[in-house]
Amino acid sequence: MPIIGLKSIQSDYVVPTEAVVFPPLRGSVDRLASSIPFETISQDPRMLDTATFDAFGQFLRASYPSVFNTLEVDTFGTHTYFLHWPGTATATKNYLFIAHQDVVPVDQKSIAEWSAAPFSGAFVADSTGGVEGWIYGRGTLDDKSALIALMETLESLSYSGYQPKEHLYFCFGQDEEIGGKAGAALVAEHCREAGLNFDAILDEGGIISTGSIPGLETTPVALIGTAEKGYLSVEVTFNLAGGHSSMPNEETAISRAAGFIEALNEGLFQPEFSAPLEGFITHLAPEMPWSLKTVFANRFLTEPLLLNLYQKSHTGRALTNNTAVATMISSGIKDNVVPASARVVCNSRILPGTTPEDVIERYAALAARFGGTAAPYHTIGSGASPTSSTEHVDFVKIGQAVKQVFPEALVSPYLTIGGTDSKNFEGLAENTYRFLPIVLNAEEVGGIHGTNERISTNGFNKMVDFYHVVVQLWSAGKFPQ
Ligand SMILES: [Zn+2]
Repeated sequence: MPIIGLKSIQSDYVVPTEAVVFPPLRGSVDRLASSIPFETISQDPRMLDTATFDAFGQFLRASYPSVFNTLEVDTFGTHTYFLHWPGTATATKNYLFIAHQDVVPVDQKSIAEWSAAPFSGAFVADSTGGVEGWIYGRGTLDDKSALIALMETLESLSYSGYQPKEHLYFCFGQDEEIGGKAGAALVAEHCREAGLNFDAILDEGGIISTGSIPGLETTPVALIGTAEKGYLSVEVTFNLAGGHSSMPNEETAISRAAGFIEALNEGLFQPEFSAPLEGFITHLAPEMPWSLKTVFANRFLTEPLLLNLYQKSHTGRALTNNTAVATMISSGIKDNVVPASARVVCNSRILPGTTPEDVIERYAALAARFGGTAAPYHTIGSGASPTSSTEHVDFVKIGQAVKQVFPEALVSPYLTIGGTDSKNFEGLAENTYRFLPIVLNAEEVGGIHGTNERISTNGFNKMVDFYHVVVQLWSAGKFPQ
């Protein structure tokens, strides 16, 4: 069987020829550290700690005077900021950058395990000599790093007299971690009403991953989310005559629910490579060692083998499956009464190419095998997001920015597993890319929403550099002569 050659496409993302300028900037890391003690924990608007969000807004104004003088700033919800840096009279494009101010709370039981207090923004020197040091705390990765790095970029560019040719917009939400309904969604609604559409959006999402991709364990890979999975929960109910527990029937509502949950572990669908993962393979397979490259080159024969490989880690499974897991269960009222019903709520994350209706149908079919029925319980959006282009020049420019700031990294599209604020802007942008420009290994990724969330000082400085490149490439502006 001939082996089809796989050609590397990494050279498509050569360092841009356009001159990207990095105006001198001091104290970026200090300002990131200062942003961490604001405990901007997302809340329903009625419960929001408005004093903290007010103070954080004042901190931004005080730290970035040139941004607030140069850009138009609107407030949505109570504390969501929408900034516009107008392009020139010949502008034809609109670009939107998204980051969020809010953070998730810290599990009180984990506090003792933190190397520095979670809302300290403390600097801890690195003892291994690999990097200068680390800033600790909630938001150092998700997502104050992006927000502050963008503000640093805007402050330095606007202070230097940079004039974007194209329009630049920035949305800094207040409740991304709980869906964005009182933040980014209001900005999106405004854009919809005003007929403001975007050529491209850049939001958080993928990272530059090291050590997590089979075959590329030693190479950093920039995973740029070109789609995000959908979110759907389903309620499955089992009704069966109960009775006295002294004379039970062979089957009960609870035993049927248990059978259903057991069967759910087998999965509702077969694993598959959805569109963003096809792009991932095209971008990365040519960079893999010969043995794996051969497997990818003969996909028509080896697909089951490859999918099998991806079932071995929980990330691999999430990338290739419409996941389904029971998350809530309730039944029974008294220890000596066999209940007449049992209820199981299940959560699914949906791949591009599968619809929520497909998923509900599968739940219903499986439930029926155990005498149960299925109904939608909670949905966010309508399935997975559309898949954005990797051929488009706006994607290529993100790839170029990666190569300029992280020359050793490979560029690849990716499927974002979790939700982001950009889902609120669905239908408003030609392309949406989800990427946080930071190199992280698996342990560091665990800090996101977990223990010891931290960022290296040079990692943060590179984030600022990355946004400098993307903002300048997308906006195609000029510095004063
Ligand atoms: Zn986030």
